Amino acid sequence: TAVDIVDDLAASISARDGEIGAYLSYDLEAARAAAAAADLSLPLGGIPIALKDNINVLGQPCTCGSRFLESGYKAPYDAHVSERLRASGAVLFGRANLDEFAMGSATENSALQKTRNPHDLSRIPGGSSGGSAAAVAANLAIAALGSDTGGSIRQPASHCGVVGLKPSYGRVSRYGLVAFASSLDQIGPLTKSVEDAALLLQAIAGNDRRDSTCLNVPVPDYSEQLNKGVAGLKLGIPREYFGEGIDPAVRAHVEAAAKRLQDQGAELVDISLPHTEHAVATYYIIAPAEASSNLSRFDGIRYGKRAANPEDLLDLYERSREDGFGPEVKRRIILGTYVLSSGYYDAYYTRAQKVRTLIRRDFEKAFEQVDAILTPVAPAPARKIGEFADDPLHEYLSDIFTLAPNLAGLCAISVPCGTVPSGEGTDLPVGLQILAPHLAEEKLLRVAKMAE
Ligand code: GLN
Repeated sequence: TAVDIVDDLAASISARDGEIGAYLSYDLEAARAAAAAADLSLPLGGIPIALKDNINVLGQPCTCGSRFLESGYKAPYDAHVSERLRASGAVLFGRANLDEFAMGSATENSALQKTRNPHDLSRIPGGSSGGSAAAVAANLAIAALGSDTGGSIRQPASHCGVVGLKPSYGRVSRYGLVAFASSLDQIGPLTKSVEDAALLLQAIAGNDRRDSTCLNVPVPDYSEQLNKGVAGLKLGIPREYFGEGIDPAVRAHVEAAAKRLQDQGAELVDISLPHTEHAVATYYIIAPAEASSNLSRFDGIRYGKRAANPEDLLDLYERSREDGFGPEVKRRIILGTYVLSSGYYDAYYTRAQKVRTLIRRDFEKAFEQVDAILTPVAPAPARKIGEFADDPLHEYLSDIFTLAPNLAGLCAISVPCGTVPSGEGTDLPVGLQILAPHLAEEKLLRVAKMAE
């Protein structure tokens, strides 16, 4: 029964999550009650789904991996995706760890807990949706939702050997997702298969008037299109994604995956995305700018932490934020405030928006020639925990392949395409990234299915 499935998962979590650290919390009784009441005839009837701990579920904690919301905050409402999952019969079970406010690529910025890669416990699971990816990879979740602002679904999926889908901008409502960078954020699934990703996307996609960026356009039947194959499709190989800095073993796996798609009838086309090298700089201006604005709501009054015995209002703001936010979040707020400040706004923020347009046009031009694009997800497999401590710039550079699709609003997916030996007896997963035009998820999933 659905209750047995929840109980089995809870047993696996108590047996194994002590060493992995995928979950920040779960409410077994609420999940059992939902499972007992679930309508099994629905598409996700009785299936437990884990949620990243920045997606609101009524009555549950939503810590965002932050001291700010660690104690006391309980979601007063369901996110749109939470409602939609329930309406599909799913059981919302478990709150997955993340980098604080989804800022990071390793889940090491969580203020609350370390998460380890199930394939090699000395390594990061990736991030920021590292808890969601690790839970699915370790069989501690059947599927999960994450959020992706610049790679946070695809990169941990790649490092943990699972499927991770970032829907197109506007495909899924972010109502009830704690906002990081609103022009980039999307919610999407992390699953064991492309078929499951299609099922979850079906459940969460579609219009919602509570997110004004969510598009009111028809949602295709994703599962129906899944097995159409790739014969006759043109797949672009952008030369800028295969150059310097990429681990040769990662490149070999991605090239082999492209070759397999070619063997199934796709045509590989060399393309160029000339502004790729500016994606990191552009993203790390725009994302912090938006974050500095979004995070101003954490003022010590409205949510979570409040400094004790403030001298006055300013003291209350300052000490609540000083204690509540971790170092990476503060770094982003400072950077974002700087690039938005008068005198610097045009030099940084306006300029970044212009380069963003050039990056988007690169893709528009490429998609006149090809149906989808194949790239690596990350330049290297999962690194050791602690390896980039105090080196945020190095960490930002490792996002090079995942940021541009968010800047352009495309849909993108990471599919496992092989493993690389670590040299220490473990095998580290590598992901293939597939990109498709805005709202072309059915095509994306179709290519992903053949790449699986
Ligand atoms: N690693 C990127 C960052 O730190 C992306 C994070 C995300 O997608 N949420 O901003």
